[in-house]
Amino acid sequence: MTVRYTPMMEQYLDIKSKHTNEILFFRMGDFYEMFFTDAELASRELEITLTARDGGQSKKVPMCGIPYHSAENYIARLINKGYKVAICEQVEDPKQAKGLVRREVVKIITPGTIISENLLPGNNNNFLVALYEEDEELILAATDISTGECLWALFSGAQRLTALYDQLFRLMPTELVFSSPISNMDKLNAFISNRIPHCTHTTLTIDDLKYANELPSQHFSREELPEHDVALTGISYLLYYLHQTVKTDLSHINRLIKYNSSEYLVVDSTTMRNLEVTRNVRDGGKKDTLLSVLDYTKTAMGARLLKKWLEYPLLSTNTIVQRQDAIAELLEKPALRQNIHDTLGSVYDLERILTRIEVATANARDLVALKSSLTVLPVIKTSLQNATTKFLSDIDKNLQTHTDMVGLIDAAIIDNPPFSVREGGLIKPGYNLELDELHALSRDSKQFVQDIETREREATGIKSLKVGYNRVFGYYIEITHSHTSSAPPTYIRKQTLSNAERYITPELKDFESKILGAQEKIVIIEYHIFSSIRDHIKTHMKEIQQTARQLAQLDALISLSEVAFRHNYTRPQITQTQEITIKDGRHPIVERLLHQQLFVPNDTELNHHSNEIIVITGPNMAGKSTYMRQVALLVLMAQIGSFIPARSAIISPVDRIFTRVGASDDLSTGQSTFMVEMNEVAQILKHATKNSLIILDEIGRGTSTFDGMSIARAVIEYIKERIKAKTLLATHYHELTELADHSKTIKNYSVAVKERGNDVVFLRRIIPGGADKSYGIHVAQLAGLPKKAIERAQELLLELEQKHPQPQSVVDKVTEVVVEAAPEPMSSLFTSSLADEVLALDIMTITPLEALNILYNLQKQAKQESGQL
Ligand code: ATP
Repeated sequence: MTVRYTPMMEQYLDIKSKHTNEILFFRMGDFYEMFFTDAELASRELEITLTARDGGQSKKVPMCGIPYHSAENYIARLINKGYKVAICEQVEDPKQAKGLVRREVVKIITPGTIISENLLPGNNNNFLVALYEEDEELILAATDISTGECLWALFSGAQRLTALYDQLFRLMPTELVFSSPISNMDKLNAFISNRIPHCTHTTLTIDDLKYANELPSQHFSREELPEHDVALTGISYLLYYLHQTVKTDLSHINRLIKYNSSEYLVVDSTTMRNLEVTRNVRDGGKKDTLLSVLDYTKTAMGARLLKKWLEYPLLSTNTIVQRQDAIAELLEKPALRQNIHDTLGSVYDLERILTRIEVATANARDLVALKSSLTVLPVIKTSLQNATTKFLSDIDKNLQTHTDMVGLIDAAIIDNPPFSVREGGLIKPGYNLELDELHALSRDSKQFVQDIETREREATGIKSLKVGYNRVFGYYIEITHSHTSSAPPTYIRKQTLSNAERYITPELKDFESKILGAQEKIVIIEYHIFSSIRDHIKTHMKEIQQTARQLAQLDALISLSEVAFRHNYTRPQITQTQEITIKDGRHPIVERLLHQQLFVPNDTELNHHSNEIIVITGPNMAGKSTYMRQVALLVLMAQIGSFIPARSAIISPVDRIFTRVGASDDLSTGQSTFMVEMNEVAQILKHATKNSLIILDEIGRGTSTFDGMSIARAVIEYIKERIKAKTLLATHYHELTELADHSKTIKNYSVAVKERGNDVVFLRRIIPGGADKSYGIHVAQLAGLPKKAIERAQELLLELEQKHPQPQSVVDKVTEVVVEAAPEPMSSLFTSSLADEVLALDIMTITPLEALNILYNLQKQAKQESGQL
């Protein structure tokens, strides 16, 4: 027997049948209600009480609900858990509805289409990506609806999936939409669950192909649109999904950018991760990344752009130099830099405000934020007036001041408007005559009530007579029972209380309707004025978006000049000489993390004639990895136009940076550590070119020594003979240092170590020549291995070394290991015991005399330590 539900339940079921992938929030009065399995799921996820409702014929239907005014919070929790929510509203006034009120889904909220400020991830982009594949061509179309950005890329050929991974890793989408399963879907799924675990995915079917195909040309200019049909289809899919979900015209998505890999330095996802460019390996956060080191931006737009610059370093010398010029000018003109930096502090996230304006969710506070952001533009323009470099003067040229918009908002909207736009209190006095009159009326009402009360008291002689108001009866005259006999006949009795009677008069009724009408009218007129201003701003969307982009660029440039200023970075010379020559380079992240020690700078020389492949040997913990990553990071920084932590540098842009670093299991794809390592090496050998930079931090370690060493050697020989890429390789296979004997382009370097008595001091200096010892047992002891195990290891090592004597090797003596930074030659104060004393000084509070005394004592101590006393 089919269950017959109530008409409302039937309506619910009908709507729900079209939204099976979403949790349906069904508006009933002041609540969003959920039913059936949605209710069970939501009550579990949101920890709200599950009740039941009569669904018809005494059938109980599971139900739970949330108040509509606090819905956002609940929606955020569901979205964060990867669910989608369909918002179904009452689309006609329940008072006017004949029978059942009409309801419709007005929007769907999904992880990739959120707009609400509270749900968005701070300064980060929130990308939705659509993937479409046809004839071995794979299209990625991506948009951040909250900022209006939209881009696409085409990958073809056998390596298209790898190229897609690199893009996905940069975009970190929160949602992926597939037209239909793409080839190698299982591999892609494994990549997603491993590297973008928070990303939800949906398969999309297009019901109206004609409509979908028209969308690209509605959003973008003809010049921006790809001619390629497959690419166009991919973009149509993205837009179709957006429109089906957000259900507004989305005119702020009006600029389409093509990602063209030939314009950028390609940094694959493994390298992005290894170098911790924008995300740390620990938890994927920003802390201790290159981005965190460089980010002095003041605006959300600037922060997003700086991240993009890091994700897409440049190849074109001209563009790099243009950014460098601008940074140099900002460094040379501290007042200019400082003024703009301070001013940018009051600029809000214009891109996101514009999106809220577009979808009509912006409130009056957004308009005030827009006004205060635009108000600073003339100040910025004045500062930029005398800028001489191209980049800065272009920004100045393209920056409009939007004085009309500022004037309009300033004249109309009060400075501290309420959150709600439907309760009045938004519009400034003097902006609208009718509104002013209505306000005057409601202001005067108190006096008017007072006047009636005084007049009636005098007329009736009842001193206790009061004029009051309540929501049920409106305005009334109240007279205690003892005086009711004096009430004039014109008073109409309305309510009897225990101690008094309440009356109304035609005069009071008339007044009441004027006053109450005025309040209602005020709210309506204010909302009308507000929305017309919002709509007016919408017509200037493109110009303000353009301004937002200029501010983002300015902010990113200022950030890079600020970091250069604060941390003593220098401008690398960008050349086409195919070399990387760095004097006294520092690791940008590690140098900031060291507190007790100074970072020891090191030189780098990579070129194709004498130093193409550098084999670095040296003990564990000596600083090999730090050094190699430093070289890669400095090159990447140079290619975004940034200055770098070095005394000087000549850098020729590289086309790709590859890193093979550390060991990591990739269990989700069923690959062992060694397999992952070999896969990474295979990718490098397949894709590297002569113009690439390769960093190999140990290869062949996950297998037997002879296997590993053979692989490592073969890889180096392959690079040397076939690829000829600039390469840095760190290894514990000291045998590999022999390679340099047979090639003029392979050089050995090692990290200097000083044995001081029984101590080992890591000097962190990269010096020419190979190393012969690993000090592995020292490091094991440092790490806290049990004493017995250490002693046994020492015994075994002794045995091994006796069996296979090595030329200069000395048995590791387990003694106290000292890890300290000591630049060579040993000239630094900070390598000795004086370091603690110097670091403990509070320089700002000591007197010159105290300072002299301290210096005298320090020198005495230093002389003692160096044996001069
Ligand atoms: P392993 O062979 O065990 O992987 P490694 O030689 O690669 O070791 P790193 O991991 O690079 O050694 O460095 C160990 C630590 O030494 C770093 O964490 C850092 O704190 C410090 N360090 C490295 N280089 C420097 C430097 N140039 N100046 C100061 N400290 C440094």
